[in-house]
Amino acid sequence: MGGSHGCPSCVDSFGSPEALTSHIQAKHTFVCPICGSSFRSRHAADQHHNTKHTSTRCSECDREFGSENAMEMHYNLEISTTMKSTVR
Ligand SMILES: [Zn+2]
Ligand SMILES: [Zn+2]
Ligand SMILES: [Zn+2]
Repeated sequence: MGGSHGCPSCVDSFGSPEALTSHIQAKHTFVCPICGSSFRSRHAADQHHNTKHTSTRCSECDREFGSENAMEMHYNLEISTTMKSTVR
């Protein structure tokens, strides 16, 4: 039947607030892959990402990308080709 401490993010409920807290930390904590900060909701993590890590613009050619991953892949490629082409 579950306890009286219901998880706000899913249907699970627990007998003690401690159990609920550890459940939330294990199941509903969103960790920022860039700086390691953790958040209670995806929305909070997204908001953090949008305000702190909006560097989806390539610093080499100023092109913008939809995701940081895409930008990083492009950036790494660009750096490696630039290094090769500037070798004299
Ligand atoms: Zn839950
Ligand atoms: Zn972060
Ligand atoms: Zn670039």
